[in-house]
Amino acid sequence: IAARPALSVSRLTVNYGLARALSDVSFDVAQGSCVAVLGANGAGKTTLARAITGLVPLREGKVLLDGQDITGWATHRIARLGVTHVPAERMILPGLSVLDNLRAAMRWAVPRNGRAAAIERAFERFPVLGSRAKQLAGTLSGGEQQMLSLARALAVPPKLVIADELSHGLAPMLVASVFEALAQIRAQGSTVVIIEQFVGAALELADEAVILRRGELAWSGPASVAGDQLAANYLE
Ligand code: ATP
Repeated sequence: IAARPALSVSRLTVNYGLARALSDVSFDVAQGSCVAVLGANGAGKTTLARAITGLVPLREGKVLLDGQDITGWATHRIARLGVTHVPAERMILPGLSVLDNLRAAMRWAVPRNGRAAAIERAFERFPVLGSRAKQLAGTLSGGEQQMLSLARALAVPPKLVIADELSHGLAPMLVASVFEALAQIRAQGSTVVIIEQFVGAALELADEAVILRRGELAWSGPASVAGDQLAANYLE
């Protein structure tokens, strides 16, 4: 018997007003696996993330999480099931220190006596944050803020993490640590959806890939051959 997928989207259709942004998109993500969602600018990748996490209403379609139908659920309820969305925009509290940003991210989900260890893990994962623990988050470089945003999202190990173009605008060294962090979180059992316009590192981590083109699912298959597919057919 095939295990229930961690995430299953079927026939997802999203409109912005009269404009269709996603059309009839279906795919499954196996438990503990990593899928890369690829496609050109405007192909619908971010809309897909927002549809899964309840940030945009579906015109049609269904979203199942571990077999549970979460279609139409509010974002905070979906988050409570262990779905973490790391958006391309940095989600930090600029007026708080790095340390307090992490503490705030854990407040509701990590018991008081587990927080010190969780913060230590975050600093091991992102040493640059450890060395700036007392610094106000708003004074970090853009790349460091992106790291902090990811560290906040991973502070509570998610069941499913959707990472939306985290490498955008990062120096190559920081890109490497973003992907390392995603690899670690996956090794701990989380299912990972990586949305990326720049595909090399994403495909190294991913098992499967999904290529969107103008809001439609253009291709899906093993990550090992997705790069060629993308280059040959879908970069427009
Ligand atoms: P990018 O890499 O540029 O973020 P993407 O693949 O994530 O692209 P989306 O951002 O999902 O693509 O956009 C899909 C389509 O929906 C595009 O044509 C875009 O212009 C349109 N769109 C996105 N957000 C909105 C919105 N809030 N209102 C109207 N149209 C939108």
